[in-house]
Amino acid sequence: MTATTTGRVVVAGASMGGLRTAEQLRAAGWTGAITVIGDEPHMPYNRPPLSKEVLAGKAPFESLAFTPKAAAADVEWRLGTKVVAARLDERIVELDDGTALAYDGLVVATGMRPRRLRCPGPLAGRHTVRTLADAQGLRDELTRPGVRVVVVGGGFIGCEVAATAVGLGVREVTVVDPLPLPMVGPLGELLGEALLRRHEERGVRFALGTGVAGFEGEDRVTGVVLSDGTVLAADVVVESVGSVANVEWLEGNGLDLSDGVLTDEQLRVGGRPDVIAVGDVARFPNARYDGAPRRVEHWSIPTDTAKHAAKALVAHLNGAGAELAPFAPLPTFWSDQHEFRLQSFGAPALGKDDVRILGGDPEGDVLVGYHTGGQLVGVVALGGQAAAMGAARYRSQLLKQPALTP
Ligand SMILES: Cc1cc2nc3c(=O)[nH]c(=O)nc-3n(C[C@H](O)[C@H](O)[C@H](O)COP(=O)(O)OP(=O)(O)OC[C@H]3O[C@@H](n4cnc5c(N)ncnc54)[C@H](O)[C@@H]3O)c2cc1C
Repeated sequence: MTATTTGRVVVAGASMGGLRTAEQLRAAGWTGAITVIGDEPHMPYNRPPLSKEVLAGKAPFESLAFTPKAAAADVEWRLGTKVVAARLDERIVELDDGTALAYDGLVVATGMRPRRLRCPGPLAGRHTVRTLADAQGLRDELTRPGVRVVVVGGGFIGCEVAATAVGLGVREVTVVDPLPLPMVGPLGELLGEALLRRHEERGVRFALGTGVAGFEGEDRVTGVVLSDGTVLAADVVVESVGSVANVEWLEGNGLDLSDGVLTDEQLRVGGRPDVIAVGDVARFPNARYDGAPRRVEHWSIPTDTAKHAAKALVAHLNGAGAELAPFAPLPTFWSDQHEFRLQSFGAPALGKDDVRILGGDPEGDVLVGYHTGGQLVGVVALGGQAAAMGAARYRSQLLKQPALTP
């Protein structure tokens, strides 16, 4: 395939990371063409409500769509189109409609897709939650009378789906996880136990410390077989067992694609100043912590990465050559489950061995600090709005902390 266009930044992935980067390219002074290619049929929309308000039937799709900033009004959107390959040495991407596009700058914003369980059994009745279509399909099933739901995975999406299902009046909701507590991976035991208690009090059941061996049923799932042989009756299964990066289209370019796409501290890919990565798919070193490259699947990251990476790309494209300070975001996430909220600032997962209660009590609203080498690296609040505001008060302290030694 040949392609002739120049003076163009191509953005692969038309979701939050792609949109924010298009906007930030303009803010950074890029006046050339911007083409955003997305395989979903929709303009970028907000994903967090998918496991909460959309599933609960409280938010129509129109309320999820982002409103692009005026500066990005001339961006070309090619939706329902997939990028299938990239030839970085030639600065060309290939699309599934058989065309190729030349670029001066390329943005990798293709995000993640749900990991699937590879166990024997039927597929029908098994769901994931990543897209609007996923959430709508699952909602149709959850609102059937008498339905029994098994959620595989006690991470944040699994816990949110379980809470929403109970809120919808689903009579049996069971969360299965090989770990001993929900969300224990990112948050540690103290909050894992507090979460478990809250979910159980509101009717969610748990089968913890056990995996899934298979699914029962002929044409569609009727039960989940656990690793210990127990069978949980299930009309609907939700698989929330992590995600897989959408990077296959970048293969063959000598990049590190072992977990997302590896970037340098300016979010540049493969040592190339003309290729940047943003959002969930970017595995970047964070100068605020130990400099180890990590992916961060939080809503704050598409915007943070877009701001920094767009500046780096435009500096290269416009020949400005100025080196920016290394990227050093303060990760932020929240999760709404039942009527309570988890609000996190910083990197709690790095400080799980030294967890201290900063305020409140795990039975009610609680504020927890995570430390490494005695230094505060993250705070998480669990409870109502006041607890979340308590966590926000630590933001400036976290921003002022010295970088961790690698
Ligand atoms: C159900 C759910 C609930 C969430 N709740 C919260 C929350 O409460 N709090 C929080 O902090 N974060 C939450 N998040 C995380 C947050 O939504 C993500 O971090 C954010 O959506 C990442 O945006 P992104 O643009 O990097 O990736 P994505 O949103 O994954 O977008 C990538 C886009 O690229 C498209 N694409 C993939 N491959 C190709 C290709 N080859 N060609 C063209 N297009 C392609 C994809 O279809 C997709 O549209 C939630 C996520 C989900 C799924």
